[in-house]
Amino acid sequence: MANEKIPYKIYLTEEEMPKSWYNVRADMKNKPAPLLNPGTLQPMGFEDLRGVFCDELIRQELDNDTAYFPIPEEIRSFYKMYRPSPLVRAYCLEEKLQTPAKIYYKFEGNNTSGSHKLNSAIAQAYYAKEQGLKGVTTETGAGQWGTALSMACGYLGLDCKVYMVKCSYEQKPFRREVMRTYGASVTPSPSESTAVGRKILAEHPGTTGSLGCAISEAVEVATTTPGYRYVLGSVLNQVLLHQSVIGLETKAALDKYGVVPDIIIGCAGGGSNLGGLISPFMGQELRGEAKYRFIAVEPASCPSLTRGRYAYDFCDTGMVCPLAKMYTLGSNFIPSANHAGGLRYHGMSSILSQLYHDGYMEARSVEQTSVFEAAELFARVEGILPAPESSHAIRVAIDEAMKCKETGEEKTIVFGLTGTGYFDLVAYQKFHDGEMVDVIPTDAELEESFAQLPPQPETL
Ligand SMILES: *Cc1c(COP(=O)(O)O)cnc(C)c1O
Repeated sequence: MANEKIPYKIYLTEEEMPKSWYNVRADMKNKPAPLLNPGTLQPMGFEDLRGVFCDELIRQELDNDTAYFPIPEEIRSFYKMYRPSPLVRAYCLEEKLQTPAKIYYKFEGNNTSGSHKLNSAIAQAYYAKEQGLKGVTTETGAGQWGTALSMACGYLGLDCKVYMVKCSYEQKPFRREVMRTYGASVTPSPSESTAVGRKILAEHPGTTGSLGCAISEAVEVATTTPGYRYVLGSVLNQVLLHQSVIGLETKAALDKYGVVPDIIIGCAGGGSNLGGLISPFMGQELRGEAKYRFIAVEPASCPSLTRGRYAYDFCDTGMVCPLAKMYTLGSNFIPSANHAGGLRYHGMSSILSQLYHDGYMEARSVEQTSVFEAAELFARVEGILPAPESSHAIRVAIDEAMKCKETGEEKTIVFGLTGTGYFDLVAYQKFHDGEMVDVIPTDAELEESFAQLPPQPETL
């Protein structure tokens, strides 16, 4: 069988690493809806966004037509420090499950930030440097994005100001120290250092913060400090573009052995890893060249695709950012304390939202106890300690493999293993001690949140 030739890990050479990112929007008939100015409800153009984002990143954000963007040489050489990442054939997991399915995972946890986020962090930092800026600001919740951006800025010699949600700042001191090691300044949010932070503190003394609030602070600092811009780790079109390196490498590795996947699975928070993983495959499907099943996996506690509304909404809770059309639970929705911090976002990438709306992608929500069961099973047989976020994809990959066991089908399943879980051991501890609970929002709670969606533009 051809199978026997497939190694446990398929590595590409550095030369085989993609030379361009792929922009799936170029092949979409229905383009993702544009960002709108919340005041005028008019689409935001290049000039409208210049105060907040770097010029080249705005060009990438707004470009729905160019299929390939060359990856600058300096970014490629940074990528070489941790890429190409391996595509692993999960032989041990297949054996454990006794499934005829063939399971592969693309492992993006092989760098100090512990996740795929470095793929976009280095790109965004590079364009900021190219523009001659002094530094960038951002927010971080669980800490993966802040860590990745700190690494990228440390490498390029850019200043990096991270606003970290206060409860994470206190609960995850080690993440904070990693960021400081790379030279970033880390401020617990809400803070006294911004007008919006002071306002929030005056209204809610003792608050432990939220991602939305940290975004508002980071944007304020970027727009009021000369030589600074704001950068974001997910959701935006530009981030999905950078993350296409994951899918391009996956496809190149599979092509080497003539393997064609049936099902491609990824966890979805803001949608960047999933969007990046599926992009080249989705492009084939959109061009009518192939057919795949794509599955987005989200937590049952924060089910944007499976239970959200497809509507224009704010990207942040402070309501300072543009409106984006996406599957959303409402910008005021506060998900329960799920341990997959990276999946606790109320909205979803506009690109993935449009593809899902048009029927190109499926979505599934899973409860966190079943996610940790899958994580533990995976860790024991494959060795890697998976991030809770990534384990959502593991859960559904196992479920699909077990269906194959029932039907006897030899399907090929590919999933994205976005990161490692070394900073999530409190969550693992709760799971092991039997203290983990599944909190699922009621329909009434979601309706209450939908009722607060902003007025929708007439034309849509
Ligand atoms: C941030 C994060 C995610 C979710 O973000 P997406 O933009 O949806 O990819 C998933 N896994 C890990 C390890 C993360 O750090």
